[in-house]
Amino acid sequence: MRERQGIGAIKGVGEKTEKLFRHVGVKTVGDLIRYYPRGFEIFEDPVPVSEAVEGRVCTVAGSVFGRIQVSGSQRVQITTLYLKDLTGTIKVIWFRMPFLRNTLSKGGILILRGRVVRRRDGLVMEHPEVYYPASKYEEKLHTMQPVYPLTAGLTNNAVIKAVRQALECADDKMDILPPEMSVKYHFPPYKEAVRNMHFPEDKEHFAAARERFVFEEFLVFILSLRRMKEAGNRAENRFHFADQEKIGQFLDALPYRLTGAQMKVWEEIKADMQGSFVMSRLVQGDVGSGKTVVAFLALLLAGLNGYQGALMAPTEVLARQHYENISGMLEKYEIPLKAELLTGSMTAAQKRGAYERIRSGEASIVIGTHALIQEKAVYRDLALVVTDEQHRFGVRQREALAGKGTMPHILVMSATPIPRTLAIILYGDLDISVIDEMPKDRLPIRNCVVDTSYREKAYSFMRKQVSMGRQCYVICPMVEESESLEAENVLDYSQMLAEELGSGIRVGCLHGKMKQQEKDEIMEAFGKNEIQVLVSTTVVEVGIDVPNATVIMIENAERFGLAQLHQLRGRVGRGKHQSYCIFMSASKSEETKERLEILNHSNDGFFIAGEDLRLRGPGDLFGIRQSGILDFKIADVFQDAKVLKSAAEEAGKILADDPGLEKPVHAGLKKHIDSRIQEIMLETTL
Ligand code: ADP
Ligand code: MG
Repeated sequence: MRERQGIGAIKGVGEKTEKLFRHVGVKTVGDLIRYYPRGFEIFEDPVPVSEAVEGRVCTVAGSVFGRIQVSGSQRVQITTLYLKDLTGTIKVIWFRMPFLRNTLSKGGILILRGRVVRRRDGLVMEHPEVYYPASKYEEKLHTMQPVYPLTAGLTNNAVIKAVRQALECADDKMDILPPEMSVKYHFPPYKEAVRNMHFPEDKEHFAAARERFVFEEFLVFILSLRRMKEAGNRAENRFHFADQEKIGQFLDALPYRLTGAQMKVWEEIKADMQGSFVMSRLVQGDVGSGKTVVAFLALLLAGLNGYQGALMAPTEVLARQHYENISGMLEKYEIPLKAELLTGSMTAAQKRGAYERIRSGEASIVIGTHALIQEKAVYRDLALVVTDEQHRFGVRQREALAGKGTMPHILVMSATPIPRTLAIILYGDLDISVIDEMPKDRLPIRNCVVDTSYREKAYSFMRKQVSMGRQCYVICPMVEESESLEAENVLDYSQMLAEELGSGIRVGCLHGKMKQQEKDEIMEAFGKNEIQVLVSTTVVEVGIDVPNATVIMIENAERFGLAQLHQLRGRVGRGKHQSYCIFMSASKSEETKERLEILNHSNDGFFIAGEDLRLRGPGDLFGIRQSGILDFKIADVFQDAKVLKSAAEEAGKILADDPGLEKPVHAGLKKHIDSRIQEIMLETTL
């Protein structure tokens, strides 16, 4: 078996599994080797039932007490049992596994491992793994088991089995890092490193392997960026943007004055667009600093000069919101331009209409998701592309746009507070503007960190805010096991909350599994205050702007990264009303408390990102779910800042010594980089 072969070559991978793997982007044996786990489970000794802790994954051992029940709807059957040991009993439920009633009815000790949550009737262990007979658990005790990203039908065990086989053909010859680098940084040899990415003996082995691949990922990224830059950046500005009176009128008519920072950034953008070269500019500004209106000004400048401008958003919900907002402003301020929405979920006929208006130039401001660049949109004269919240976008998409022959001006907007030194490396050739001032009428958000005993009070607080005309978000506990469980959880929670809050308050819910149209409807209803309380997963975290919402309550706050919590909190405090953020956490650990205290005392994204880094330190590799800044597979810009700097240094040296990457030691790297650049180029249809 070789790395390049299809995964069908692996024993036990039939057509059906092959399809499932393809769904998660794994086509070849090599892909599988690089299909790294998203975390590890460490199998600890079972705890007494009485010591099961809310909000944690626990292992308990005991026997079934009473009868095993199956209830619920046909669609979601729920299996319930009570597990008993010498110290007490705990309720346990499974979704969609009715067959467990028979398997577990035979008596004897069983071991369950799952998350414990608090429900109305007390602590419940939800959807645990079953080890029966109990001896099955002993095999796993104290080992590190990889946990892979999955898709419906693909089990973790199936991936483990396939990966084990694939690893057998890993070969040090596949190493693309120049050998002197492995020596210099003490990286483990390739074969050992890939093995330890999946099945490490301990955390230290994993950390060493991970660092090696993080380095490689950064190195390839930086080298690709530099090579593409050579291939044609700093293109000449072939557009002519005359100043527009209409823009001044618009600024005068706005209900607020731009802040000094917004004004400064707008001037920088305008100078770029009117300069001799094509703009590549990154605008950084904390959540709520008012980036949208700045982007809108740039789009106006393009449109009013007879060109087209495009605005890309990372989600459909956000694209639609921008569209509504921008078409609203065009109408209200009597600006004679037409906005057009283009998203993946539109019907074929709708898209055809949109394409036609984009081609003819009738549409001057085109707003959408990556459909803007991925689908067959042909522009008449595209002069400006703005990408919003671009850390959610692949680096690739950005490069895809920049790599096109037409070379529009590029404006990238981000709320991710990346320190300047890192931003310069990561964004290569982008110029950077910072909106470092908040609109004046804002009241700082009031924060509190509370434990679950506060929940009742939080609900009544929300009731009160709603009675004053305000709206609330509740971010639901995360379910790590699967996306469909997460949906289940949000549904459950919102039903419970609707009962709790009583009639007169409409509770809506939003999660990743919903159809796009449903999501849009919910967001629209929330935007119009037809829904007062929105229970949601983290899909709301990006950019949603409902200024009337004043409360956000985040359940299981301990399970989010600080930067992500800060983004979530940014959903409130966007209007003139006092806003509140409630971090709910059951965790009693000191470290969690310290982390949440940082948010409690600061609303400053840069400060929080720095503290996050400081607290996590380089040792913590598993604890926190990353918010996926930029499109790196394993690297984390914050946590791996040091490695990023080394990689940038080495990239510089490599290019100084061998600009064309023609030396044999760079052959592997070159091939990798070329195919990466090609991938980037192929994606363009703009
Ligand atoms: P973000 O930077 O997070 O994208 P938005 O652009 O969505 O923020 O702006 C947040 C809210 O602040 C919007 O409702 C917007 O209308 C408002 N806003 C923008 N600039 C100002 C300003 N200078 N003064 C007052 N409100 C503003
Ligand atoms: Mg925004």
